[in-house]
Formats: sequence, structure tokens, C-alpha cells
Amino acid sequence: MIFFDIDQTLINHQQAQDTAALLFLQQFSSLLPYTSEEFCQFWQAVMERHFATFMRGEITFAEHRRRRIRELFQKVKLCLTDDEADERFAIYLQHYEDNWTLFDDVWPCLNTLSNRRLGIISNGNSEQQAKKLRQTGIANRFDIVVVSEEIGVSKPKPGIFLSACRRAGVKARECTYVGDSLQNDVLAAQAVGMKGIWLNREGSGYSQIGVSAIENLDKLVAVVS
Ligand SMILES: [Mg+2]
Repeated sequence: MIFFDIDQTLINHQQAQDTAALLFLQQFSSLLPYTSEEFCQFWQAVMERHFATFMRGEITFAEHRRRRIRELFQKVKLCLTDDEADERFAIYLQHYEDNWTLFDDVWPCLNTLSNRRLGIISNGNSEQQAKKLRQTGIANRFDIVVVSEEIGVSKPKPGIFLSACRRAGVKARECTYVGDSLQNDVLAAQAVGMKGIWLNREGSGYSQIGVSAIENLDKLVAVVS
């Protein structure tokens, strides 16, 4: 069985996030004093901080969204109510969702693996991750979709990988996991006995002993067959 990560593995989350951030900045440019580059970097840092708190189970997904948008406007001394924060996040979110796209190598890879059982193991909000798969048209290619929020454990912890194996009725050593994060995906999967494959789209040439790395999904078939 082959399990995949979603963001930066199948879906170009970074491009969607940056495009959405810039459209949001355009709309609120009179309030937000950032250049495009500064804003994308700041939004990324804000996202990482509050998403990590959500991942630790300390706040809800809705609260993590409010904290992200509030932090933007706190910079310019504007305190948003819950409703204002929700309204503004919804504007960003619409742009983000409108820009979800698959990497070009995803469909050819899924087609080549049409005779293999495939699954998803992803960190995030269950509803949003499922929506990404549906909206990009790949949802029914996966037998099992396991998202951290619904099981209460996130990557790199072993529990999420083992839970996915249980649901699929397979042993970890019979599974391969493909993801873009060396730490959260590849080394974490290997720690439970799966074969981890590092999708290093940057192709920086960085290699790690004991880790199979590929630059794109076209190379996956050769590694798993
Ligand atoms: Mg990822």
C-alpha cells in the first residue's frame, strides 16, 4: 500500500497560499503596510505559529484562523471582533481554495499506479483536507484518508501512521509513505517501519543516508516497483 501526504506533495499549497495572500493584500492595502514579499513571508510565519498550536490540539481550527487574521491587523493596532476576523478570513480562504491545484506530475503518477492501493495520511483539518481531494478530482483514487484532526494525533507521531495501517488492514512494513517533509513524513514513516520516500521538489541535491529521495512523482514508480 502506498500512502501520500497532501500539501506540497499532491497539491501546490504554497502557490495557493501566496496567491491568496497577495489578493488579500490588494484588497486591504490601505490598512496593511507591507510589500508583496514581506506580506507572503509574514503570512507564512503567522500560519506556521498558529497551525502548530492547532496541531497540538490546544485550539480549534476556527480559532487558529481567527488568530492568524487578528495578528495581521494587530500589527496596525486594529483589534478585530470574532465576526470581523471570520469575515476577513473568509475572503482569504475563498482565494486560497480558488487556487488549489495539483502538481503536473500527480495525475500521470496516479494513473501509472492504478493497480495499487493508495491512501492519504495528512496533518490538518479533516473537512478541509477532504475538500482539497474532492475539488482537485483525486478523492476517489484513495481507499483510506486519515487526517490528524479526526484521530487526535499528528505527524511525526507514530500513532497517525499506525492508525492508517489499522484502517487499511495492512502492516507498516508493507507500506510506503511519500511526502515532502524529511522530518514529519519520511523519517517519521520509517520510524514505524514503513518505507519512506522523500519528495524533494526543490531538488537541492541534499541527500540523507538511508532515505530514498525523488525530485518529482514521475520517479516514484521506479522506486516502488
Ligand atoms: Mg507536505
